[in-house]
Amino acid sequence: DPLPAAGLSVVGADVRIPLVTGEEVDYANFDYAASAPCLTAVRDVLGDALPYYASVHRGAGFHSQVSTAAYERARRTVAAFLGARDNDAVVFVRGTTDALNLLARSIPDQCTVVVFAGEHHASLLPWQHRGSRAGRVVRLPLPESPAEAVEAAREALAAAPEGPRLLCVTAASNVTGEIWPVEELTAVAHAAGARIAVDAAQLVPHRRFSLEATGADYVAFSGHKLYAPFGAGVLAGRTDWLQAATPYLAGGGATGNVTEDDVRWNDLPARHEAGSPNVLGAVAVAAACDALTAAGQDALHAREQALLERLRAGLAAIPAVHDLSLWDAGHPRVGIVSFVVDGLPSDLLAAALSAEYGIGVRDGLFCAHLLTRCLLPEGHAQAVRASLGLGTTEEHVDRLIGAVAELAARGPRWEYAEDDGRIAP
Ligand code: PMP
Repeated sequence: DPLPAAGLSVVGADVRIPLVTGEEVDYANFDYAASAPCLTAVRDVLGDALPYYASVHRGAGFHSQVSTAAYERARRTVAAFLGARDNDAVVFVRGTTDALNLLARSIPDQCTVVVFAGEHHASLLPWQHRGSRAGRVVRLPLPESPAEAVEAAREALAAAPEGPRLLCVTAASNVTGEIWPVEELTAVAHAAGARIAVDAAQLVPHRRFSLEATGADYVAFSGHKLYAPFGAGVLAGRTDWLQAATPYLAGGGATGNVTEDDVRWNDLPARHEAGSPNVLGAVAVAAACDALTAAGQDALHAREQALLERLRAGLAAIPAVHDLSLWDAGHPRVGIVSFVVDGLPSDLLAAALSAEYGIGVRDGLFCAHLLTRCLLPEGHAQAVRASLGLGTTEEHVDRLIGAVAELAARGPRWEYAEDDGRIAP
């Protein structure tokens, strides 16, 4: 296995957890799409940075200088990871939700924003939320094919009133794993004189993404889905709208000069990084970018794709299982499968997978209520999601398939009851 040598083992992979039977097993984590565990390479970089971290930019002391250099180096690493163009901004934020809310407050006044109804709430909702400068939000119905998505975007952008327009799309669905046609959508947006923002939260942990190659105007992602601990994410892209906008967080760092009756805001990126920046968060994100790049994202993709195919084939062989897909089965997808099992509510299935087999999945509507509800078969109120990452092994996949087959055939072995809002044995 080449992953450990490349620092691509995940921290905690060897932790054993108790089952409800009293037996101990290693944890089969299938919840990477929610938050991925930290890579050993990231932990090591963080360990080296810990003794030196200090407030960046204004400190004259040694630690402050080291931290400032590390913070700005992290920005350059992320820029390279995202294929940023020379004059693109890279703003460190808290995560994808924060990034898209920042963008919603930075678009020109009265901008028309076009989204698909199936977006994750982080890319669906900021445009119509308090503080957004969108004049009008157009929500397109779920497209039946990638080609229909491109056509619907083209028509919506053409029908939008004159003035600034922005299309916002998720690059890879957190529910189905399906990859959206970002390059084609970028082309139709640009042909219409509009811009495109890409929510790449679920794409970048699995595939390469390049602002330059796709031509996309903005991209957002979260460090905690990219094998860095919680705390930092990124908004990158064109500077003009972001530079023209008043910061949505007012405070130190965002200000160039403050007088009794006036404030001059800083230039990008400090303009949108008010407060003491999260140096360790940025360093962790950059370390994750470095580790994935050094290992070769294409090689990692091939490894994951084999595991994904194994899982999908195993689940497809269980008659009671239905997987959730918007498009045809062969459409490219990242390592995410959402499914339901006839006769077994998803919260019970998820609880039994955890308690009886040591398998961690997620159940619910996955912060994409409109999409998930639309894809659920009759009689199901929610689904189970299994998502893969660098710590996933063939044994985990086989354990999940075997567990779902057993639970589908004979139901859980234990009694489960609601406990504090969750089903538990
Ligand atoms: N977009 C997508 C596609 C996601 O999957 C998520 C996280 N589930 C987000 C946005 C929001 O990311 P965060 O919670 O890190 O802000």
